[in-house]
Amino acid sequence: MKRYSALSLFREGLNDQKGWQAAWRNPEPKSEYDVVIIGGGGHGLATAYYLAKEHGITNVAVLEKGWIGGGNTGRNTTVIRSNYFFRESAEFYDFSVKLYEGLSQELNYNIMFSQRGMWNIAQDRHGLEMLRRAANAMGLNGVPAEFHNETEVRRRIPLLNDTPRFPILAGLLQSRGGTARHDAVAWGYARGADDRGVDIIQNCEVTGFDIKNGQIRGVKTSKGKIKARKVALAVAGHTSVMAEKAGFRLPIISYALQACVSEPVKPVLDTVIMAMGTGVYISQSDKGELVFGGGIDHYPSYAQRGNLPVMEHTAAGIVDLFPQFSRMRFLRQWAGIVDVMHDSTPVVGKSPIDGMYLNCGWGTGGFKAIPAGGFCFAHTIAQDEPHHLIAPFNLKRFETGALIDEAAGAGIAH
Ligand SMILES: Cc1cc2nc3c(=O)[nH]c(=O)nc-3n(C[C@H](O)[C@H](O)[C@H](O)COP(=O)(O)OP(=O)(O)OC[C@H]3O[C@@H](n4cnc5c(N)ncnc54)[C@H](O)[C@@H]3O)c2cc1C
Repeated sequence: MKRYSALSLFREGLNDQKGWQAAWRNPEPKSEYDVVIIGGGGHGLATAYYLAKEHGITNVAVLEKGWIGGGNTGRNTTVIRSNYFFRESAEFYDFSVKLYEGLSQELNYNIMFSQRGMWNIAQDRHGLEMLRRAANAMGLNGVPAEFHNETEVRRRIPLLNDTPRFPILAGLLQSRGGTARHDAVAWGYARGADDRGVDIIQNCEVTGFDIKNGQIRGVKTSKGKIKARKVALAVAGHTSVMAEKAGFRLPIISYALQACVSEPVKPVLDTVIMAMGTGVYISQSDKGELVFGGGIDHYPSYAQRGNLPVMEHTAAGIVDLFPQFSRMRFLRQWAGIVDVMHDSTPVVGKSPIDGMYLNCGWGTGGFKAIPAGGFCFAHTIAQDEPHHLIAPFNLKRFETGALIDEAAGAGIAH
């Protein structure tokens, strides 16, 4: 693989940009692989990369029904943080933030990780209690966090409304939080995996499984049958659809989650803000667009477009925080189908079928988990044993009752 560097950029400038190679190949599927990963989102691609890099398993295919990164990975608002309540979640998500901190160098691909800080703003007494509790939990979990009063919040975010409908009482800042370029994360992992021999096969939908005596043997796809010793599911909102084809059920509900961007403007907001009173959040992209979103739609759906009431609520919440933005125009609005678990904690580990593994349940917050999710999932597939960081995220917790209820603990869905 040709390395990207200032020198190669300079050389190609002199060479009329003719010497660049494709970032990944476009191979036809082989008849058999050691591991088939279904889903070419961030989690599937990162898993393939770490299987090859950390475990030397390179006879791997990533099968994607559309184009890589075209699912939730390319639709998300890219907030990265590890402000969780329970130790299990905090350790895992903080490991992910640490991997993000070195990812551009690791992949030789600029993922534009910007640690501009992530604020949670308390707007009522209940929210204030939740923030204090979160600050203490983060401290106990070894994740640095700063609790600031209203004056300091306003000093650091001067654009905030002086008289919002819900008052601004305090803020909790995780200064290592921030944003990254979503499709660069997918493309960087794809390039790194392809370079190590992984076949990335786009426009290849998995339509069924070949399972004998409870053991996976392969997959049926729109490009024919492919044998596989191991099969890994990383299909986000479509996990229950795939599980049904394999003959088991999962405690997942799929919802549309919407987001939108405004027209681009000059830099006005240098951090990420989540308002607890209205549940909306906002940041500004490097292109200048204001990127904002809110909660999931109120009913389960596979329709990747969302509905108007949620967008109205979100826009109203943003304008309440920043009345200046009320005259800006929407540039784009979209939705992705997110896979929500009852305890708002993912499932990463074995499935009820031998040789089949699950990476799902990331809900509204799995972008920040991509590096750690891929790393730990690859370990689990390679060793047939869960990596210790994701061992608590097993499916059995719904039988044993050892749930990790982050929705209740952290007061945020994911
Ligand atoms: C609007 C929105 C905002 C979000 N904001 C954030 C945020 O700020 N921070 C954060 O951390 N997370 C956020 N998320 C969540 C995050 O995007 C997801 O949790 C994460 O991208 C999941 O990655 P993935 O690789 O599991 O799924 P995906 O990127 O969805 O990849 C799954 C892939 O599987 C493919 N697939 C499905 N079925 C099949 C099949 N039968 N055969 C072959 N391929 C198949 C799909 O086409 C898709 O490309 C947001 C999500 C949305 C929708």
